[in-house]
Amino acid sequence: MLDSIASYHEALRAGTTTVRATCDTYFERIERLNPSLGIYLALNREAAEARAEGIDREISSGRPLRPLAGVPLAVKDVLSTKGLRTTCGSRILHEYIPPFTATAVSRLVEAGAVILGKTNCDEFAMGSSNENSAFQAARNPWNPECVPGGSSGGSAAAVAARLALVALGTDTGGSVRQPASLCGVVGLKPTYGRVSRYGLIAFGSSLDHVGPLSLRAADAARLLQVMAGRDPLDATSSNEPVPDYLATIEHSVKGLRVGVPREYFSKGLDPEVSEAIHAAIDRLAGLGAEIVEVSLPHSEYAIACYYIIATAEASSNLARFDGVRFGHRTRRRGSLREMYKRTRDEGFGPEVKRRIMLGTYVLSAGYYDAYYAKAQRVRTLLRRDFIKAFERCDVIAGPTSPTVAFKLGEKADDPLSMYLSDIYTITANLAAIPGISFPCGVSGSGLPIGLQLQAPDFREEFLFRFTHQYEQTYPFNAEPNI
Ligand code: GLN
Repeated sequence: MLDSIASYHEALRAGTTTVRATCDTYFERIERLNPSLGIYLALNREAAEARAEGIDREISSGRPLRPLAGVPLAVKDVLSTKGLRTTCGSRILHEYIPPFTATAVSRLVEAGAVILGKTNCDEFAMGSSNENSAFQAARNPWNPECVPGGSSGGSAAAVAARLALVALGTDTGGSVRQPASLCGVVGLKPTYGRVSRYGLIAFGSSLDHVGPLSLRAADAARLLQVMAGRDPLDATSSNEPVPDYLATIEHSVKGLRVGVPREYFSKGLDPEVSEAIHAAIDRLAGLGAEIVEVSLPHSEYAIACYYIIATAEASSNLARFDGVRFGHRTRRRGSLREMYKRTRDEGFGPEVKRRIMLGTYVLSAGYYDAYYAKAQRVRTLLRRDFIKAFERCDVIAGPTSPTVAFKLGEKADDPLSMYLSDIYTITANLAAIPGISFPCGVSGSGLPIGLQLQAPDFREEFLFRFTHQYEQTYPFNAEPNI
């Protein structure tokens, strides 16, 4: 199977493969493996085949390859795709066919990518294991008894299982980086505003990000290159110029400073993960980076802060799913009020309901100042921690997830322990800074371990450069045995 866009494009140019043949290979593999892994919720086969043939015609007519010509892409099912069912992993949207396409997706498609299908995820992206999908739990290709992480578990598992070359996920509190870590692939959460959120079905609008997943840093960079930049359809998208990520990816990391926050190595971190992360940081030093200790003193408040702000925003965003404006409507008869109640009762799963209730509570008149307003102040402190730390370093390194992939069912009945799996990732969402996870080792049980790097606003180039330089010297060649 393919492992990079560059080698695929070489093969297309040399005529040793075609886009159509490549897509056929992926779909055959999907047909064989998807029933047991539950990675895709919908396939786009017919449209993908026609598109593949169109791109093959472009190539044989001598047109230069577009940046993502023929690239097999999986799209998380919270991103709207015109004419292609988009469920958010929820019963309430099980029949929803969007009339438009998310900007991030349409930019990739314009650059030549071929959508293979829509990937499984936790309902409305709420979760860390994919078990909150209303349809089925996706499984981790490294060990199908384990979760792939979440909420973009299907997208990460698709790349790891070679059921897509690249994928799109979304990250509100870690949902690109944590499954990337658990599945042994690269996953990037860009800076807030770097990629348009238009057409991303909102969970927490001030925290939601669209990000790429791939086997190598260079491919994540290629995807971001195409997706990034101002979009008139998203008022929060940034005007900040988009640098040429591939131009700097080859640069050495010599002299760059890596901050290691002491708060990231305290209780709750699995000793095997801790060891692998320390070893990876030593390797960064070996590549010429300077290691400095930094402190993020408010980190311990991040989970509480996140679960107030994210639920508040979710309770407001999800109000539109009421059986009138969007989504499933109950078939049971009753008054208008009963219709709303039954529709939402039938349509939403338990985790989504829990968050709507929590969010409604923290926004309610008597509690707004005590919870929501206070959480906003804590959010500012968390961002200030990073700004201060970045005075002393160029990137911050640490674990992506406190553990490797856990077993299905292991945390399903304990929401709090599930929430704790986001401990290292949610601060970047609250602070709006970019973060990447890439594989740096394998545990004794044969499961991947991810290193997370975070950078100042709009310095994704550092993240790609570090990851690429690490890959050059320490390539991650392990593959799931499926
Ligand atoms: N696991 C976190 C949550 O459940 C983050 C999810 C996400 O990033 N979409 O909210």
